[in-house]
Amino acid sequence: MVKTLKGKISVVYICLVLMIAIVGFTSVINFHVLSRSVDGLMVNNYKSINAVNNMIEAIDGQNMAILNYLNNNEETGIDLFHKNSDIFYKWYNIEANNITESGEKDHINKINKDYAKYIMLFSNLQEIRNKQGTDKALDFYNNQIITLYNNLKNELKDLSALNEKAMFSSKDKVTNDTIVIMYLVLGLSLVAVIGGYFLSTFFINKFLKPIYILTESIRSVKEGELQKEISVATSDEIGLLAHEFNNMTERLQQFEYSSKGKLLEEKNKSIAIVKSISDPLIVLDTDYKVVLLNNACEDIFGIKEEAVLNKHFLEGIRNGELYEYISSVYKEGNEKRSEKIMHVKVNEKDYYFNIVSTAIKDRNLKIYGIVILLQNVTKLKQLEKIKTDFMGTISHELKTPLTSIMMGLSLITDKKIGDFNEKQETIVEAMREDGERLSSLISELLQLSKIESDKAVFNIKQCSIIGIIENCIKRFNEQALSKEVNLYYEGSEKLPKITIDSEKISWTLNNLVSNALKYINAGDEVFIKAVVKDNKMYVSVEDTGVGIPDEYQKIIFDKFVQVKGGDLEMRSSGIGLAIAKEIVEAHGGEIWCESRLDVGSKFTFTLPV
Ligand code: ADP
Repeated sequence: MVKTLKGKISVVYICLVLMIAIVGFTSVINFHVLSRSVDGLMVNNYKSINAVNNMIEAIDGQNMAILNYLNNNEETGIDLFHKNSDIFYKWYNIEANNITESGEKDHINKINKDYAKYIMLFSNLQEIRNKQGTDKALDFYNNQIITLYNNLKNELKDLSALNEKAMFSSKDKVTNDTIVIMYLVLGLSLVAVIGGYFLSTFFINKFLKPIYILTESIRSVKEGELQKEISVATSDEIGLLAHEFNNMTERLQQFEYSSKGKLLEEKNKSIAIVKSISDPLIVLDTDYKVVLLNNACEDIFGIKEEAVLNKHFLEGIRNGELYEYISSVYKEGNEKRSEKIMHVKVNEKDYYFNIVSTAIKDRNLKIYGIVILLQNVTKLKQLEKIKTDFMGTISHELKTPLTSIMMGLSLITDKKIGDFNEKQETIVEAMREDGERLSSLISELLQLSKIESDKAVFNIKQCSIIGIIENCIKRFNEQALSKEVNLYYEGSEKLPKITIDSEKISWTLNNLVSNALKYINAGDEVFIKAVVKDNKMYVSVEDTGVGIPDEYQKIIFDKFVQVKGGDLEMRSSGIGLAIAKEIVEAHGGEIWCESRLDVGSKFTFTLPV
């Protein structure tokens, strides 16, 4: 039994070749038979007819010879008779050796016998003529010889007719044989064509069927039906292919199950991690519908994840302040991570959250969700409040005795209560300087604690920033000149009026200019700029001073931060920039610093126009 596809195709091919060979072989044999029949027709019968005709001619010649002999041409007659006799026997022998038809042999034998008699009668004629004279011989000729001559001639004609008849019947046979052969070859060719067609169609379908099944199965697997198994029962190459295909889908299935399982495990792990985060975490889709909540969120907001899933933030979390902030961040197209400390009231309780919101993007950087982490900084805020209150109280408590100390010191330095020696004067002067520094520190601390505890009163009204800048330059001009520093304003003289607490913004600008003049060398420059862009007023103080190291630039606005380092270390409290930040932010603006060591610093703050 042939098992391989190659073997099967070869068998079909051999069958077709065999069929063609049979048709060809049959045709060759039949054409050979036909050619033999034509041979018989053309050669044998024709040879006999020709021989008989020559024999007739010979006996006609002999008859003429006898008549010559009787007309006194004895020698010529006898000679002619014998010559024709030779011719007769020559053709007689040819015919005797070419007997092809039934009855031909009897004719030959009779002719032979009669011809022998004819020859003998001629001898008798000669004897009669010699003994009894020509008249008797003529009678003998008329009575005996002429009769035999006619009989012989008739015999020969019959033999010729027999061969002629045979020749015609051979011709009919050849014609019939040709028709039979034609139909046979035609029939065989037809059988070969039809057989070949059905054989090929049958086997092509048989061979292709498993390939169609395989193609169908591959299509199903492509569409995700990994459990699809091909049932091809053949053990040929296609069977092998199907077997390998089944192995492959099985492996794919195993892989899918394992990767699915792993994915599920990883997903559960991730969810468990998210759920266990101690700060509230909310995941929203781009329509602000809740996708996920963690346990801390459920506890603080008093909700259950199942109850709010797929519901809008406002319907689920029900916090307008939070929603306003989150939606404002994304409405502005801010796809980046944003952070903001917000005071949120949840179920009549005060919370402070550092809201960290991050956009989740797909591979094409399209946002498909938002993760909101509410870092609970309520306790820190409370501690800070205690610290601010404490700072305020301490500063306040220190301020009264310090004021009387400073008053006492000024009485002493004014020498209103008597003279003192040079050494005492130096000590008292140093005490006064330190006292003044302490007094300004306490005032700054008091100011900061007031702003931080929301006790500071902001006197908001429309005013011109140019006026504030001019006042600032006037105030620090002398100091700048003494330090050989060029202090100037660079920008338009026409700027829109802005609604601010002019005293506090003046304080902020003065603090920035005072700092710039502190950390600067002779010959350097300090310039103030003010521009309006995108509904914001950008005010900056730029200097060509010592600059601020990179690591300080982000924390410089924190309380008590001072840049450390050799010659640059100045005696400062590190509160000024913190107060400036509180003031600017209270106005709804931002403040930041850009600086390069030994190149200079630029402090910029914005105010809404
Ligand atoms: P203070 O009120 O004591 O000056 P600030 O908060 O204003 O403190 O400044 C904090 C620190 O920032 C300063 O100690 C100083 O090291 C650095 N600083 C501020 N402005 C500049 C500046 N223009 N150039 C260099 N350093 C500066």
